[in-house]
Amino acid sequence: MNHDFVHEGRPGRVVFAAGASTRLPGEVERLGLRRLIVVSTPEQAGLAAELTSPLGDRIAAPHPHATMHVPVAVAAEAVARARETGADGCVAVGGGSAIGLAKAIAKETGLPIVAVPTTYAGSEMTPVWGLTDADRKTTGRDPRVLPATVVYDPELTLTLPIGLSVTSGMNALAHAAEGLYAPDGSPISTLMAAESARALTGALPRVVADPRDVDARSDTLYGAWLAGSVLGATTMSLHHKLCHILGGTFGLPHSETHTAILPHVLAFNLPAASRARTALQAAFGAADPAEHLFHLAKDLGAEMSLRALGMPENGLETVAGQALAAPYANPRPVTGADLEHLLGNALAGAAPA
Ligand code: NAD
Repeated sequence: MNHDFVHEGRPGRVVFAAGASTRLPGEVERLGLRRLIVVSTPEQAGLAAELTSPLGDRIAAPHPHATMHVPVAVAAEAVARARETGADGCVAVGGGSAIGLAKAIAKETGLPIVAVPTTYAGSEMTPVWGLTDADRKTTGRDPRVLPATVVYDPELTLTLPIGLSVTSGMNALAHAAEGLYAPDGSPISTLMAAESARALTGALPRVVADPRDVDARSDTLYGAWLAGSVLGATTMSLHHKLCHILGGTFGLPHSETHTAILPHVLAFNLPAASRARTALQAAFGAADPAEHLFHLAKDLGAEMSLRALGMPENGLETVAGQALAAPYANPRPVTGADLEHLLGNALAGAAPA
């Protein structure tokens, strides 16, 4: 095979173990941090307080004000709070929303982040930030927002509701799947993506069968770590573009939207991405990865209709228009008719065709 690639290793320390959250104080000490702002959603304020209480007077301020998609006003308030408390670091406990707000702080202040993820979204492994103003989401890359240390503790995911566990796992799978046909993939990102797809599809049915199965949770979080690493290392394509537009324009829920869209984009893209198709066939043990994924998600209880998730009937043209307006990498050229077909099926919750 003619190898031709660029691989860039990213800095960052990962600590992964059941019970690893008790190692948080040691990780903070290792970075020499003395005044921490602790970011979480309001719902996870209690967990954040519990995990950081051993840090005592190193906690400068709890900041449990993270919300989905990091609205600019919420970000500005968090940056101001970090500055007025003289914080020298930021601990983020939670999913992509909490980590996203910590990234907004780091982007403006350069404070190092210690992330303790509790979902499978994978933001903690990427230098990608996102901010939402009115109904538009802006994203960008900045090495300053990549967490210095990530503490993965599968026990923290035991409380993740089953529905969100499935869709968050599918969100991770989307990073792995699009990483497999990324224009800037490398042998390392390909290995990570294939292993992630295998781990996630194997573990999610076990999580649904018993949400308190720590081994199943551990395998899922392991797959999510790999998927997040792939997301951070490669350029995403049509799937992420569509989800970005749907989330930013109609406020559709993040992981649920990823779940409903992914089988349709794979059905469209895989015929033009033979290596990705072969890798997913092996990872899923299925001849048709797109169809397999649709039925897996549906059988695990996910909502597969964008209409049911809140997409307006007449939104199809808006999404297609935005997706065609800005160019992005994709293994297969996309036309308006392709998008209307693909989105029409996803709108109705029909199997990919
Ligand atoms: P989330 O962080 O919004 O969490 C959803 C809800 O679940 C919240 O109420 C949260 O408090 C709760 N929750 C989280 N973990 C829990 C647990 N273990 N037990 C019980 N409740 C729990 O959801 P998400 O899907 O993790 O993140 C979505 C956001 O992350 C989006 O805004 C998305 O754009 C962003 N994101 C960014 C990147 C990136 O690289 N920048 C990557 C992936 C996702």
